Amino acid sequence: MTEFRLGSEQRPLRVAVIGSGPSGFYGIGALFKAEGLNVQVDLYDRLPTPFGLVRGGVAPDHQNIKAVIRVYNKMSENGGFRFFGNVKIGGDLQVEDLLRHYDQVVYATGNETDRKLGIPGEELAGVHSGTEFVGWYNSHLDFRERSFDLEGATRVAVVGNGNVAMDVTRILAKDPEELVSSDIADWALEDLRRSSVREILLLGRRGPAQAAFSPSEIKEIGALEAADLVVGPDEVELDEVSQHWLEKAPQSAHANVDFLTEQSKKGEGTRTKKIRCQFLVSPVELIGEEGRLRAVRLERNSLFEGEGGTPRPRGTGESWVEEVQLLFKCVGYRGIPIPGVPFDERWGIFPNSQGRLLDPDTGQPFPGQYVVGWAKRGPTGLIGTNRPDSAETVQAMVEDIQGKTAAVSPLKRPEAVLDLLRSRGIDYVTFEDWQALDQEEVARGKAKGKVRDKFYRIDEMMTVIHRARKRRKGAGS
Ligand code: NAP
Repeated sequence: MTEFRLGSEQRPLRVAVIGSGPSGFYGIGALFKAEGLNVQVDLYDRLPTPFGLVRGGVAPDHQNIKAVIRVYNKMSENGGFRFFGNVKIGGDLQVEDLLRHYDQVVYATGNETDRKLGIPGEELAGVHSGTEFVGWYNSHLDFRERSFDLEGATRVAVVGNGNVAMDVTRILAKDPEELVSSDIADWALEDLRRSSVREILLLGRRGPAQAAFSPSEIKEIGALEAADLVVGPDEVELDEVSQHWLEKAPQSAHANVDFLTEQSKKGEGTRTKKIRCQFLVSPVELIGEEGRLRAVRLERNSLFEGEGGTPRPRGTGESWVEEVQLLFKCVGYRGIPIPGVPFDERWGIFPNSQGRLLDPDTGQPFPGQYVVGWAKRGPTGLIGTNRPDSAETVQAMVEDIQGKTAAVSPLKRPEAVLDLLRSRGIDYVTFEDWQALDQEEVARGKAKGKVRDKFYRIDEMMTVIHRARKRRKGAGS
């Protein structure tokens, strides 16, 4: 068989990207931009809908952040792009199938599960992860059935000082009427309207200088109409470790400290709901009654200089009990393994070097397998952080095919994958199918005065998609 340069017009590079969130799309964007590269990309997602955390994670009152979808839509217009939604890798298709049909496979599966606290009582009713709550108010298919006793709770703890903790706190504290026109799930809006939550304890295990939230996010909490952000003067007194650390800390740490210090001068405020920042505290025990959370035992921490001078928390032994009826763990995400792909259990990511998947036994790259986004580096950074991260991986992908030639073998033809999917009876969702669903969601939303009314069941989604396919077929015949 004649061989051609891999990535040439005669023999395009065939790439499968697994996961259609920001990192997957930025990887695709970088591939399409790579000079002299002719590439065909198939994007897989286990859900019928694309966009990962932009759809299922970004809060409904942050529609401006979701506008990034326009950039991804533009990428989808490239002739070398196809979407295969509703296809689970490690279920419907195996990694071996992909390796047979593609020259390169990119794992962009993000971090789909949450970290645990590892303290007694974590199994109690009323103890939830931020992931569940976020998925629930965002109509994510995996979390539709969750319930949160907002009506029965007056006092809530949010553990963690990251931007997920900000989202959870804001949605709990905000006047639900402000969310009516967003794409929030109807059930979440109803439950938030019935909520009895009056006090939210925002718990950081380190100090205000080490808080992971963005200055804009904590300021947004401080500007809520329905709640006061209360910061006790003691909470913003910096210890020596923090003072030292601040000398070299990023601008955002200074901005957070400045804002919280100003906020501490405002006292209790007059609004009915209170969000109370408590720094240098760790939950050490969750206390229940008849299987339900009743209280949390907190321990006071102090900071010490860890590796590289990074302030780390250490328990002081001083502890006390705070009554809370709900607790949300917003302490970070972790990835989940894919059968046939090595996984770093400690960090919850795929082992890699600059995006090249590594064989943990030899430390050498697995040829043709790559990682981007949270699956590559762990759950850090904002959506835009994924652009350079994915570009780095694509650079490695392009380097690895330099000087390589390949034949146009039957399995590497774009139609071969379609045959495989059909032979397994997989009802895959194309980008055109998704666009029909998208239009329907927007139309349903419009009728209700919302930006979008999301479908949350696969069977309902597929009914809409089948109807649209029939219409298109009718129009075409
Ligand atoms: P994060 O930024 O890493 O924050 C996790 C928080 O949990 C940190 O305050 C961390 O404290 C704390 N924590 C970890 N383990 C803990 C434990 N055992 N006990 C108590 N506290 C613990 O993670 P995230 O909030 O899940 O967000 C993930 C990423 O998504 C971040 O990069 C975030 O900026 C981004 N995001 C952005 C937005 C937005 O832009 N609006 C919204 C949501 C998420 P330490 O610092 O001490 O480890």
